Amino acid sequence: MTKLVEESPYRWRIEPEGAMRVPGVVFASRELLGEDQALGQVAAVATLPGIVEASYAMPDMHWGYGFPIGGVAATDVEEDGVVSPGGVGFDISCGVRLLMSGLDVERLRPCLHRLMDALDAAVPRGMSKGAVWRLHGRDELEQILSGGARYAVERGHGELRDLERCEDRGAVADADPAVIGERARERGLGQVGSLGSGNHFLEVEAVAEVYDEEAARAYGLWPGRVCVLIHTGSRGLGHQVCTDAVRTMRAAMSRYGISVPDRQLACAPVGSPEGRAYLRAMAAAANYGRANRQLLGEAARRAFERAAGDGDLALLYDVSHNLAKIETHRVDGRERRLCVHRKGATPALPPGHEDLPPDLRPVGQPVLVPGSMGVGSYVLAGVPGAPAFASACHGAGRRLSRHQAVKTTSAAALRKEMERAGIAVRGASARGLTEETPQAYKDVGAVVEACHQAGLARKVARLAPIGVVKG
Ligand code: 5GP
Ligand code: MN
Ligand code: MN
Repeated sequence: MTKLVEESPYRWRIEPEGAMRVPGVVFASRELLGEDQALGQVAAVATLPGIVEASYAMPDMHWGYGFPIGGVAATDVEEDGVVSPGGVGFDISCGVRLLMSGLDVERLRPCLHRLMDALDAAVPRGMSKGAVWRLHGRDELEQILSGGARYAVERGHGELRDLERCEDRGAVADADPAVIGERARERGLGQVGSLGSGNHFLEVEAVAEVYDEEAARAYGLWPGRVCVLIHTGSRGLGHQVCTDAVRTMRAAMSRYGISVPDRQLACAPVGSPEGRAYLRAMAAAANYGRANRQLLGEAARRAFERAAGDGDLALLYDVSHNLAKIETHRVDGRERRLCVHRKGATPALPPGHEDLPPDLRPVGQPVLVPGSMGVGSYVLAGVPGAPAFASACHGAGRRLSRHQAVKTTSAAALRKEMERAGIAVRGASARGLTEETPQAYKDVGAVVEACHQAGLARKVARLAPIGVVKG
């Protein structure tokens, strides 16, 4: 059992012991803290070479491959710090984008079912059931891997102003398609513009509650405004990049004198050939993920145009919650180049940050936090001086495994329950739907409150679900 010391009401500490180089720090309320395997994972991550400050976990933390989901860890690039593919996850650059329509929820109601049918038809999903974009061969895949959402927009899939509202302006620098393996390419060819399975979704929501008037106004989140939240990532291509990198790093670790308490924490120094190759492949996969969300955003616009007569969806923000980034942060009184792993955690840039688009800079970054298909989502904003390298939770976090979740309900019961609550459901499969029962997730309200109270990000608005297209 991992011992926790309460540092403050929403901050818990795991004292360093054994091979741990830094403490673990978990942000959560007492109620959210289960005695979870994930706490052991927080401690294990603290053993990684070059880790600074602490192995952090967000309030939505739960068990993941190597790193916990909700884990944030930074290593010092100049002091042989490592990068670990498990600290990014298999769905590289999985993330969310929030679009805002000009419609009010009451105006949408009469055509809701038509809209949901149009979205259902427009969004390819399931394991491998086609995609929005048919690529013109391998050259075009290369362009996506280097250009991300920017390339998609260049090809007419979206508007230039979309890119202003994308993390990294839609494309991660330092991507090198050449380091992406053959198998990953094959898997990527037919999936640009597809949702994927289970946990991924496209949800129609409406602003239901505003906590911070000023920030909500700056973001454009007025009560009743219909929004679309899209959650997807880099599909089979990202998965294969992670698989390949874990294998390579496992074989290389002993050469660098690295030993880790868990095989899933395979890693290599950021500056090593293996570390550099992974980061370049990861960036290329991230671009694939961003192009993917750009295309699905466009598909949503067309469906809105057809079914509701208004396809003007303005992008609030697009951000990934599975990524490692080289960032500069002040640690122990000096600026250091860090490799910040965020795995099931989102960046939450503070007001004034230079990476924010000028019009969002005074307010801070929109932090997008989906809850579950029954409860909708929250929008938060980055705050000054936030801990954990300016990061926040990425969701409610799983409470039940998929296996446990399917035992609690049936697809038919779930559909009925959702329809009764006024939420239209378009699922890909019965099993996928039951795995995603709202009961499978923690209380997103409590998770978001813990983020707010812990000073990770501040609450701006809550979005209530109206209809969901599930992967
Ligand atoms: P992950 O990236 O870890 O798979 O999922 C992120 C979060 O999305 C989960 O922790 C969960 O809270 C949330 N989520 C999963 N399915 C849905 C859905 O259908 N609708 C909404 N609003 N949130 C969801
Ligand atoms: Mn994902
Ligand atoms: Mn995700």
